[in-house]
Amino acid sequence: MTDCLFCKIIKKEIPSETIYENENVIVFLDINPVNPGHVLVVSKEHYVNILDAPEETLKGMIAVVKKIAPVILESVGMNDFCLGVNNGHDAGQVVDHIHFHIMPRCEGDGHKHWKPIPYKEGEMKELAQKIIEKI
Ligand code: AMP
Ligand code: ZN
Repeated sequence: MTDCLFCKIIKKEIPSETIYENENVIVFLDINPVNPGHVLVVSKEHYVNILDAPEETLKGMIAVVKKIAPVILESVGMNDFCLGVNNGHDAGQVVDHIHFHIMPRCEGDGHKHWKPIPYKEGEMKELAQKIIEKI
């Protein structure tokens, strides 16, 4: 895609700190890291999000996560990481080219998990049934 930021990074038209690439996937440092070593695992083929991308593409991206995450953690001296995908604008996706965030985490880094919004009485079962019927 001509106007896509990540396609331009893939074509080396825009510089990046690329740490790994293979035929299908590229991994580079995020310019606004939540912690050092925050990288983006990006499909070289342009797809918008998880629903848009073929399973084979997603499998290839996950294989790269498994290969690269331990190396990043060792490099930054952390033990754990969050794997994030913002899937669509309402979910915070800014760059419309599929990517997984690998975000190294350490105790006391101050990042918070989701804030739960509890179900009302009976709502949980009702919703589960509604979803099950559609699958
Ligand atoms: P998302 O909100 O999931 O679409 O995340 C897009 C990510 O791309 C953000 O975390 C940005 O910091 C990152 N980003 C934007 N431009 C660049 C760039 N030129 N090089 C590396 N990361 C970038
Ligand atoms: Zn793209």
